[in-house]
Amino acid sequence: MTDTTRRAAASTPPTPAVLGTEPGENDVTMIDTEPASAPDAAPEAIYRLEGVTRTYTQKGRVVKALAGVDLEIEAGDFVTIQGPTGGGKSTLLQLLGALDRPTTGAVHLGDIDIATANNSRLGRIRAHEIGFVFQGFNLIPTLTAHENVDMALEPLGLSKDERAARVTEALAHVGLAERGDHRPGELSGGQQQRVAIARAIVKRPRVLLADEPTGNLDESMRDEILAVLQKLNDEGLTLIVVTHDSAVARRARRRLRLDKGTVRDITR
Ligand code: ADP
Ligand code: MG
Repeated sequence: MTDTTRRAAASTPPTPAVLGTEPGENDVTMIDTEPASAPDAAPEAIYRLEGVTRTYTQKGRVVKALAGVDLEIEAGDFVTIQGPTGGGKSTLLQLLGALDRPTTGAVHLGDIDIATANNSRLGRIRAHEIGFVFQGFNLIPTLTAHENVDMALEPLGLSKDERAARVTEALAHVGLAERGDHRPGELSGGQQQRVAIARAIVKRPRVLLADEPTGNLDESMRDEILAVLQKLNDEGLTLIVVTHDSAVARRARRRLRLDKGTVRDITR
């Protein structure tokens, strides 16, 4: 063990990995039903989008929010999506999150095409596979941090003890082990967003999607959130983050820009 790894080990609380990697940990695999890919295959793509369009029609006016997106995202990557307001970022994130379907094209998440999967399947994908973080935190003000995080486990059918253990672990993972009984109003913005991240990861998702996760935070709170996101990505969680903040984008391994419904890779 080098000095650096010893220091890292000493400063990291001995919580088990949040991302279920042990067999049986992530048993609800709607995704991994096919045999593993061939040995020489390229790095595993978690998402594969082909010819994706999304058109909204409102009062007879047609808006093409996504104008034909072809995109692969590798498992374990840290991807940011930048671009002007109205460029289609939230629309794309909703498709990736199985909250919406494309007008045309395919959105493959593993072996599943979100465009054609039935609604109950999409519900299970959202409950098990995808963690969401929003700009506005979306915590329930009357519930404690622990209860807010626990809500994400509702659909998973775990025992009470398993739920409590997972929530405690997720809160510890974002540095809030001591704050489980606090309500959102008793927490700083950065702490509230960390509760929201704990809620997103407690289900042990395959991917974390975030829409402007630092948009409501000052610089020091932003750095707090960035550190948590970086740690999760280092542990193998795929991150896809919509952001206006170039400090966030600088941390990404891959940077995309979405303008007028079209994606461009701007990684340098
Ligand atoms: P961004 O997140 O990059 O600001 P959005 O994905 O929210 O962009 O929006 C892309 C375009 O689609 C915009 O022109 C927006 O007005 C339009 N749009 C988004 N959602 C809807 C909706 N539910 N109904 C009608 N138009 C929408
Ligand atoms: Mg948006």
